[in-house]
Amino acid sequence: MIDIQQNLTDINQQIANINRNTPQTTQLLAVSKTKPASAVVAAYQAGQRKFGENYAQEGADKVQQLADYADIEWHFIGPIQSNKTKLIAENFNWVQSLDRNKIAKRLSEQRPKDMPNLNVCIQVNISNEANKSGLAANQVIDFAEHLTQYSNLTLRGIMAIPLNTDDKAELNKMFGQLHDLYQNLKNSYPAIDTLSMGMSNDMQTAIENGSTMVRIGTAIFGART
Ligand SMILES: *Cc1c(COP(=O)(O)O)cnc(C)c1O
Repeated sequence: MIDIQQNLTDINQQIANINRNTPQTTQLLAVSKTKPASAVVAAYQAGQRKFGENYAQEGADKVQQLADYADIEWHFIGPIQSNKTKLIAENFNWVQSLDRNKIAKRLSEQRPKDMPNLNVCIQVNISNEANKSGLAANQVIDFAEHLTQYSNLTLRGIMAIPLNTDDKAELNKMFGQLHDLYQNLKNSYPAIDTLSMGMSNDMQTAIENGSTMVRIGTAIFGART
């Protein structure tokens, strides 16, 4: 039996311990994809407020079911098809998986006028994996510049899913490159504040390399089927 509240307590404690030796503090995004709304409520009751979803329809359904929990911050973190941009623009507070101009344009145009700007992160494919979403590191500065024309989007930083490996040296290298890229971008856009990296398996190394937001699913909600 998964004890969501206990898992959250443990992870928050681990993050706080690692943050004792890092300059930044790290926020926790609870990744609730494939889990029922009741799991989100259990985490909410333990104090968690930021949740991440990967699938537009599933995520929007949960946002609507849980509309009474008005202080939840919903992050979209999955691949984006252009026929889903409206659903995402109307339901989410953040999109972390932005990597295409066409999608940026649609999200900005479809953001409802009575909602605050949509916060966005540029997704980076740091390990240059062929079939993974995200821009190559050397395309990120140009894309950020391009985003400035979209008045309903606010650039917050970058997000990455590095190669899945237990090789700590390899992880340090990839997270280190992401941190450099983030600092670079911050020189041009001082208001950005989000380096979203680290999942259940590599959370510690990500935080040691400057992560400001870890995205944790399995370690909170248990394995996905
Ligand atoms: C599923 C997912 C996560 C969470 O992964 P876990 O290994 O379950 O912690 C984080 N980020 C993204 C983009 C994901 O798709």
